[in-house]
Amino acid sequence: MKKILMIGTGGTIASVPGPDGLVPALDGQTMCKMVSGLANLCAIECKEILNLDSSNLSPRHWQQMAVTIAENYEAYDGFVITHGTDTMAYSAAALSIIIQNSAKPIVLTGAQLPIGTAASDAPNNILLAFKAAASDVPGVMLAFDKLVIAGSCAKKMCSQNFAGFFSINRQPLGIYDEGEIVWSEDALKKSPAGKFVIHTNLEEKVAVIKLMPGLTSDVLDYYVAQGYKGLIIESFGAGGVPNAENNWLFALEKTIQAGVKVVCATQCVYDGVHLDTYPIGSLAKKLGAESAGNDTIEYSYAKLMWDLAN
Ligand code: ASP
Repeated sequence: MKKILMIGTGGTIASVPGPDGLVPALDGQTMCKMVSGLANLCAIECKEILNLDSSNLSPRHWQQMAVTIAENYEAYDGFVITHGTDTMAYSAAALSIIIQNSAKPIVLTGAQLPIGTAASDAPNNILLAFKAAASDVPGVMLAFDKLVIAGSCAKKMCSQNFAGFFSINRQPLGIYDEGEIVWSEDALKKSPAGKFVIHTNLEEKVAVIKLMPGLTSDVLDYYVAQGYKGLIIESFGAGGVPNAENNWLFALEKTIQAGVKVVCATQCVYDGVHLDTYPIGSLAKKLGAESAGNDTIEYSYAKLMWDLAN
């Protein structure tokens, strides 16, 4: 039987009602007892490292999760991280960058309703996560509702619907069907390229600027003055910056010359950035802005933090 470590970090899944709304409270053992079918699946040990609403998580908590995995890597066959759903896609993206060459599954999951609530999605999601963690598919994944998604491609799309996470610009690694995960060929082919290692260094002076029609480029001056080292410009469509009456190009050039790395991302969920299509993109690229390509904003954010520190 495989031995899986369940790492608790909080979130709705572990929450109970408090005076001002839901607060994380339950430990892993208590939650596992509420999931039928787990006992025969694998041997489980639990460890609580945090007990937070995931909106209160920071990059240092991603580092803490990665260190916990590294410290326990040899002793277990796989890992389940229970997590709030609000920033779970950010943690999944960050862990998929920080943790390299894991030959073992590392699976994040959460729920839209607390496990103690009637008709909660938590038992299903925990069972799915353990099935993924007891598989031979390596690396960081996010399991939710009927999908197992690569950690680098997950996005929270719904604040209430049980099918809350989508796999962006890549097919899901697995689909849950009649109690079994049907893995994609891609997932079954996955294998680590080297030895397990974590690189936890992150540059935290990174920000995402969401463009709105009419937003002026003086916002860039603010970030340069505050010592930011990386900026992601989440603009429209194929990506780029305004270049007409409201012209961002001068401020962009100044920002890049000040040593700030600029990445162009898009507010579109699917199909990625294509800077060569229009002058708004190609002129930004000529000045040194990079493209986020097909990456989600969550992945781009964690990746820029990591790139600037490594
Ligand atoms: N606010 C909660 C959290 O992210 C939402 C959830 O877990 O679904 O911790």
